Amino acid sequence: NEIKPWQEHGLAVIEKYPAKDVAPKYEVDDELNKKISLWTGDITTLEIDAIINAANKSLLGGGGVDGCIHRMAGSYLYDECVTLNGCSTEDAKLSGGYRLPAKYVIHTVGPIGEQEAKLSSCYNRCLDIAMETDNIKTIAFPCISTGIYGYDIEKATPVVMRTVREWLKKPENSEKIERIIFCVFLKGDVAVYEENLLQYFPVE
Ligand code: ADP
Repeated sequence: NEIKPWQEHGLAVIEKYPAKDVAPKYEVDDELNKKISLWTGDITTLEIDAIINAANKSLLGGGGVDGCIHRMAGSYLYDECVTLNGCSTEDAKLSGGYRLPAKYVIHTVGPIGEQEAKLSSCYNRCLDIAMETDNIKTIAFPCISTGIYGYDIEKATPVVMRTVREWLKKPENSEKIERIIFCVFLKGDVAVYEENLLQYFPVE
């Protein structure tokens, strides 16, 4: 289950889940595609620079991916999070990774329910923090807000893809960031990500 550019991983799987409508929405950009990965599994196992946490406003832990990250990182993560004084919806804050294989955790608070602009802002804030932090080049996102916070995966994913594509299109961003990994946890969400990748990061 290694991390590869998405089209090398994705296309094999998409044959099993034929897409309904995957007409490309953008021109092909191989340099961009090389930086995007689709990975299925537990985000806390990724040995990369930073993983994103779908946290809540307290930043003190919760259910879902947040609970997994705090469990795996250990109590020093909690201790640091206490000093961060919470986080508002749409915003993000940086912490260490402690016992995680990832160096950093970027905590963001997704919208409760389906609010496009707020979801988009979460991804932008996380990406901007990655940009501002010297040794972050590889980052992974879980499917923010699509669990306990109730954002339908089919509606959230196009927002995510558009936001990430537009961000990565900026030359200063793509110069620094080497890889953005979409970490999909639920098997049923994989096909949704593949369909959207074919539209937002099309290949020849
Ligand atoms: P939110 O409150 O933002 O909806 P959740 O943690 O409930 O956050 O869900 C967000 C997404 O994270 C869901 O797709 C869920 O399946 C996924 N998820 C849960 N545990 C993990 C994990 N260990 N690694 C990656 N993704 C996870």
